[in-house]
Amino acid sequence: MSTVSGVPALAGWYDNDDDGAHLLGARCERCGSYYFPPRLSFCRNPACDGEVFEQLPLSSQGQLWSFSEQHYPPPPPWVAPPGDFVPFTVAAVTLEREQLTVLGQVAAGIPCASLVIGMEMCLVEEVLYTDDEGTARLTWKWRPVAAGGGDGNDG
Ligand SMILES: [Zn+2]
Repeated sequence: MSTVSGVPALAGWYDNDDDGAHLLGARCERCGSYYFPPRLSFCRNPACDGEVFEQLPLSSQGQLWSFSEQHYPPPPPWVAPPGDFVPFTVAAVTLEREQLTVLGQVAAGIPCASLVIGMEMCLVEEVLYTDDEGTARLTWKWRPVAAGGGDGNDG
């Protein structure tokens, strides 16, 4: 499996370890609802008054729920890559176990026109930008499972 070296651009939102890249979420200890991003002070479930959350890795695969091509830069915490703004595709992927929909850019080289609602998507890591010290800052992106890139036989 290929590994991208660098550090996450958004600390605490996702991580990479021996199991590969995965998002970091929060689960309410009272009702079990999952949340992403993992920072929150109270449970958003109106039927729950939980305030204690377990931090845990989320599924790295889900179904494409929606997507759109962005023709303007999003607001922070988005970090614009250097140079002129280039339109890109954003995907909303629903993680089945968590019943959570997570936004992310679509991986480089995946045309918007190739996406189909409901297709299986997996999390990948790509370099977002390189900081002043020359360290690669990484972010998660979504890529169709069927688009390949790995041989799928590493187990
Ligand atoms: Zn709750």
